[in-house]
Amino acid sequence: MHQVVLGLGGNRGDRLALLDKASKLLAQKMDLEKASSIYHTAAWGGNSHGAYLNQVLVLNTSMKAEECLNFIQQIENQLGRKREVKWGDRTMDIDILYFDNEIINTERLKVPHPHIANRNFVLVPLAEVLPDFVHPQMGKSSMVLMEECEDSLKVKPLCNIS
Ligand code: ATP
Ligand code: MG
Ligand code: MG
Repeated sequence: MHQVVLGLGGNRGDRLALLDKASKLLAQKMDLEKASSIYHTAAWGGNSHGAYLNQVLVLNTSMKAEECLNFIQQIENQLGRKREVKWGDRTMDIDILYFDNEIINTERLKVPHPHIANRNFVLVPLAEVLPDFVHPQMGKSSMVLMEECEDSLKVKPLCNIS
């Protein structure tokens, strides 16, 4: 079995229902071990408008990494994802953050996900569910990466938006 860590997010449609639907679809073929709280974040990267809801899931699966990518892309499509502009608005983005301790660097798949250390919307939920997991390339835990991250975007738990 492999441990796969996924980062989910969307800023279009019924964001909460879409996150719930994505979890249920993932759980049809993988074992859901842990789910972070859901967090609210302003859009990152300049090409999208409207705040995101983000969540990190830890799952166990016998699928290989490439198979996981196919599976999550199927789910993105099923939930209405359209790829138009880079970092544009979307109903659902599912990224593979970690796949065990593997380092993968192919055209289709880069693992660990290259932007983990730059994004509060990934690090805050990640530090909630896997605080001590060490990034296999950077040699730092989620907690340390979160503390060192210079991203200024505020990430708030959904129950606590003011
Ligand atoms: P970012 O990767 O910066 O978060 P994005 O999630 O908006 O951007 P997508 O449009 O979802 O980007 O994906 C573009 C391509 O990234 C996909 O077609 C996929 O092949 C590739 N990709 C590479 N590494 C990963 C990964 N770790 N998880 C998901 N997709 C990946
Ligand atoms: Mg992404
Ligand atoms: Mg993506």
